[in-house]
Amino acid sequence: METYRGKSVMQGIAVGRLYLHRRADYHAAVQTASDPEAERARFLAAVDEAKAELTHLYEEALVDIGEEHAQIFEIHRMLLEDEFYLGTVADILLGGYQAAYAIDEAGKRVAGMFADMEDEYMKSRAADIRDVSQRVLRALLKLPEEGIRSEEPVILAAEDLTPSETLKLDKEKILAFVTVKGSVNSHTAILARSMGIPALVNTEFSLADSLQGKTCVVDGFAGNFIVEPEEALLTRILSRKEAWEADLLALEQLKGRENRTKSGKKINIYANIGNVADADAALLADAGGIGLFRSEFLYLGRESAPTEEEQFAAYRAVLEKMEGREVVIRTLDIGADKRADYFQLDEEENPALGYRGIRICLDREDIFTVQLRALYRASAYGRLAIMFPMIVSMEEVVQIRQIAEGVRKQLLEEGYVPGEVELGIMVETPAAALLSDRLARAVDFFSIGTNDLTQYTLAADRENRRLEKICNAHHEAVLRLIEMTVKNAHAAGIWVGICGELAADETLTERFLELGVDELSVSPSAVLKLRRKVRELP
Ligand code: PEP
Ligand code: MG
Repeated sequence: METYRGKSVMQGIAVGRLYLHRRADYHAAVQTASDPEAERARFLAAVDEAKAELTHLYEEALVDIGEEHAQIFEIHRMLLEDEFYLGTVADILLGGYQAAYAIDEAGKRVAGMFADMEDEYMKSRAADIRDVSQRVLRALLKLPEEGIRSEEPVILAAEDLTPSETLKLDKEKILAFVTVKGSVNSHTAILARSMGIPALVNTEFSLADSLQGKTCVVDGFAGNFIVEPEEALLTRILSRKEAWEADLLALEQLKGRENRTKSGKKINIYANIGNVADADAALLADAGGIGLFRSEFLYLGRESAPTEEEQFAAYRAVLEKMEGREVVIRTLDIGADKRADYFQLDEEENPALGYRGIRICLDREDIFTVQLRALYRASAYGRLAIMFPMIVSMEEVVQIRQIAEGVRKQLLEEGYVPGEVELGIMVETPAAALLSDRLARAVDFFSIGTNDLTQYTLAADRENRRLEKICNAHHEAVLRLIEMTVKNAHAAGIWVGICGELAADETLTERFLELGVDELSVSPSAVLKLRRKVRELP
């Protein structure tokens, strides 16, 4: 038995035989050409053919899996119009080489460039470049396209999977997949999630022929890939798998049902997300809306802050996906454990008590304004609410409202038509909870961030493992602050939700309902479980 660790991109458990997938990687030897013009014409004809294939694939995928996931083929088609890629091929052709070599070499160079980038998203584009240049090479060499073939359902193991290979996986035959390379942000991972296939990427194993046909386990919960599990372990895994499947099936029945107790008390159950793709999971889980979009994740792992256009595209995409359901987007909550070098924040003695969230935004209006512009522009595409983190005073709320109103007016002058937007705050500091009677009169809603509220109330760093026992959200002091906040919100006629981890704690669901909390926002995978809990309550 061997166990390897991988990065889970889709939860679930699969047990089955391993099928090794080795892509027929086409390579072209270095060969010079006597007629560069003829080589160029061959190259352009192959590009045209590849584009026609991609248009066909796009149309097929549109019917099979919908616009959003079909987009990948459109992106690939656009890559074949990309000046940099075409220019790289043209330069090699000018050097007097044959078209096949120029395509192969350009694909490697451009893919290598992407692979070297720091940004995880850009890094993962390397697979797309490789995929598309292989397609052109196949068209040029008149080679057939390789599919993934297997007769019985298998666990597919590959060095890497391209997006088009992933899309072609026959769901009926593939139980799970595990790859040596790959990143969680790749289109391949995104597709795996949308297909609901348990999957691990970046797994520490090597693709040896001896693995072929062996019984394996992909545990997408623990991130484990187990080859030839011992009998006792396999029995345990199979019973976990059975329980998980039975539970999933039972939870499915709750889709479309109300979050209503037996006596008729209702509550909204929304989802917390960190990127655009997560909205799919929220929809799949039948979440009533998005209660917390942690927008700072758009700022992390990159060289510079996302532009207004990039942010606008992300916010609009989420709003459109949610089709009129409420979407609460939290403005940048950078600082503390979430750091981005380009903000050049000083090292701090106490980062959690330091320069973070709204404190930075109110100092750096340039950053704040870009985000607010993107948000208000996106508001035309759905039901948007904007929420501000780490509030400790009324002055902050007044200042935020002034800036937000300035941004809205400016957009109107520029001809944009923002929609109706609710403005709310996170109550995640004891100060905000204690002032909640006053703050409630200045905002449209509250969302209680119990993660930070707990650490600040109990003076216990949430990152410190030694303080886990002390940093307990069930502490009476925390619960009293929650109660006070809910009462003050309702006295002022505004709605109040909870978006910290405590929202998913089923031992408190009854208490939250009694208090009259209007909304609980939890991770997508917890939505239906919480609905079940609510429906079981008297
Ligand atoms: C919270 O503090 O409870 C919260 C939801 O925000 P974050 O976990 O992102 O700090
Ligand atoms: Mg917080």
